[in-house]
Amino acid sequence: IPSRLPDVGTSIFSVMSKMALEHGAINLSQGFPDFAIDETIVHLVHRYMLEGHNQYAPMPGTPALRQIIAQVIRETYDHTVDPETEITITPGATEAIFAAIAAFVGPGDEVILFDPAYDSYDPAIRLNGGIPVHLSLQYPTFTIDWDIVRTRITPRTRMIMINTPHNPCGVTLSKEALRTLETLAEQHNLLILSDEVYERLIFDGQQHQSVLRYPALAARSLAVFSFGKTFHATGWKVGYVVAPTPLMHEVRKAHQFIAFSVNTPVQLALAEYMQVPDRYLSLAAFYQQKRDFFLEHLRGSSFEPVACKGSYFQLLSYKNISHQPDTAMAEELTKKFKVAAIPVSVFYQDRTDNHLLRFCFAKKEETLSKACEILRKI
Ligand code: PMP
Ligand code: GLN
Repeated sequence: IPSRLPDVGTSIFSVMSKMALEHGAINLSQGFPDFAIDETIVHLVHRYMLEGHNQYAPMPGTPALRQIIAQVIRETYDHTVDPETEITITPGATEAIFAAIAAFVGPGDEVILFDPAYDSYDPAIRLNGGIPVHLSLQYPTFTIDWDIVRTRITPRTRMIMINTPHNPCGVTLSKEALRTLETLAEQHNLLILSDEVYERLIFDGQQHQSVLRYPALAARSLAVFSFGKTFHATGWKVGYVVAPTPLMHEVRKAHQFIAFSVNTPVQLALAEYMQVPDRYLSLAAFYQQKRDFFLEHLRGSSFEPVACKGSYFQLLSYKNISHQPDTAMAEELTKKFKVAAIPVSVFYQDRTDNHLLRFCFAKKEETLSKACEILRKI
């Protein structure tokens, strides 16, 4: 039977986490916190389960959760969305991305995306018959070269995918970038799929540039978010997509046959938990402190950090240490030195290797300092 994705293997996140486990390495590879989540929300889920909220949620999501999301979007981005028709709760951002692509990208449609790109984008485009057009972010700033984007837009271009704050690079898009995108999208009648799962993990006093801040952009965007990042619960797999009513109408057609709905008690618990703004507003300072802790404890190491302005990933260059490919370096680091990280070349279609590894700093200080102690000696 011919494969629809002949070149796709097991996701690097599974590969590295498994290797870390097998070799007893400190796992800074796959992005997830190693600390406990707030017990308050665990008790809320428990309570809702005991109270009998264990059956299907409405297809677009529990109304209470959509309402509080709409309120937070208004307060954060000064953008009004109708919770009834413009927000859909999804099993993680991953399904939101897939449903958004399934809804709009068909055979022969081109989608522009930027490498290094999160690993689910390209397969989601291809499984729906679309053609991924991979452009590289400029090295070493990881910014978008808009002149190149302009030359690669064709009559078949349907969508541009962006991701800010960026996984794996930790860079953020500027206001100017968003304005340029807005102009291009309007000129060529394009949709924007904006992956903003790290919206709250933004450092050094920056303001997150959501597409929702730009009315003309918001009018043609599907913006994707994840509670896994915001409330440290990646294993709960709850996210959401925000889009104008006519676009959402199409996304829901796909979503209802991919997942239909998301588990009820967690949605109710999230709706109640989000009533206290500090629970999401504190994220930036919390993770900035972790980034700084990680960098401070790395001081004196031969690994060179690339500036991280958001997300919970720090890129480190090992070009002063070794010239081996990043996949080999990641393997050696895991098996021999017992620290696992993600090789960045796997996020490039052409496997560009800039000798960079991605380290997740969503970890206890104890974990980070142990890892740094090892890294400093290499
Ligand atoms: N997009 C990016 C950039 C991510 O880093 C992740 C998860 N790490 C996702 C999407 C998927 O999020 P979820 O786990 O909510 O499906
Ligand atoms: N998004 C997480 C990361 O970048 C991993 C998600 C996954 O394992 N699929 O590490």
